[in-house]
Amino acid sequence: MTENRFLQFTAPGIAGLKPYVPGKPVSELERELGITDAVKLASNENPLGPGEKARAVVKGLVGELARYPDGGGYELRGALAKYHGLDPGCITLGNGSNDVLDLIARTFLAPGYEAVFSQHAFAVYPICTQAVGAASKVAPAHDGSRGPCFGHDLPAMLRLVGERTRVVFVANPNNPTGTWLSRDDLQGFIAALPAHVILVIDEAYFDYVEEADYPDASQWLSRYPNLIVTRTFSKAYGLAALRIGYGLSHPGVAELLNRVRQPFNVNALALAAARAALSDQAHIERSVAVNRDGMAQLIEGFSALGLEYIPSAGNFLCVDVGGPAAGVDAALQREGCIVRPIANYGMPNHLRVTVGLAEENQRLLNALSGSLG
Ligand SMILES: *Cc1c(COP(=O)(O)O)cnc(C)c1O
Repeated sequence: MTENRFLQFTAPGIAGLKPYVPGKPVSELERELGITDAVKLASNENPLGPGEKARAVVKGLVGELARYPDGGGYELRGALAKYHGLDPGCITLGNGSNDVLDLIARTFLAPGYEAVFSQHAFAVYPICTQAVGAASKVAPAHDGSRGPCFGHDLPAMLRLVGERTRVVFVANPNNPTGTWLSRDDLQGFIAALPAHVILVIDEAYFDYVEEADYPDASQWLSRYPNLIVTRTFSKAYGLAALRIGYGLSHPGVAELLNRVRQPFNVNALALAAARAALSDQAHIERSVAVNRDGMAQLIEGFSALGLEYIPSAGNFLCVDVGGPAAGVDAALQREGCIVRPIANYGMPNHLRVTVGLAEENQRLLNALSGSLG
């Protein structure tokens, strides 16, 4: 498109926005290739889908669709409060946890304020910061000499925190890198932050993580009133299509986020399915086991192909294809495999691959082997 004539009339920040690039939908690639069996390992979705309890609840709600949802999310917040051992007043529901990240930006950021996050961090942090006209301060990631390559460098992030900083975003583990921060490092970081800074710890992949030094930041809420922990039902719980996530925080922070929140931001199917999914921890256990096996399968396959990868605590893995990944990505698509190129994250030689079912992982490995020549 030529220069957009409406740019001059936008709110501060909008002209500098770069839209989020989602994974290609399966239906789109199938249309392009005229095939019906494309494999999508591009958006960190649970390959098992939702559990039986959530499926049953959604099916049963069709008759209720004419009614507005419970705008306060009373039952789900109650269930989450019990699950986390917190007061319901600590919980903010979002239309996906991205909605909560956006609420945080709209509540605490504005022109003249700054958000701090890491290079290669989740793409929604710069988008929601820019959208409200605030400035992004991006700390260089580890280069491998003092911490896991591509991971958040917390001392470097701390050096960017100043008078104008209102929000710090930390993804643990991070997407797309899969890198994670240890209990001691992260706790030291929170303790060093000034009181005027809200620390967001984004735990979208919490349920998948099995590393012994990985902290559950929700345990720290009573000690640090400036902490917000975000979780989602999109990943391990298998409900990405319904858009439901939440924030855990001091009730005073939650009260502010809830002022900004749209009255019916979470739909009725999502409210009910999330509650059913939360009560179905057996499905999470199955999902984690599938992920553990699939991760081992992918690591073995990448190693056999002589490819380096970044060790990941999530349900995805970044593989270094040894040169610009765009050509390999195109070749994979011709074989019906959708993964995520991450040049837009400053990682042009890597592809992010979601851990799938055994047969999906094998299809990807076969296609990758072929595409490398
Ligand atoms: C997927 C993801 C989210 C959340 O997505 P929603 O579907 O909006 O809940 C949040 N943070 C990170 C780091 C993610 O990868």
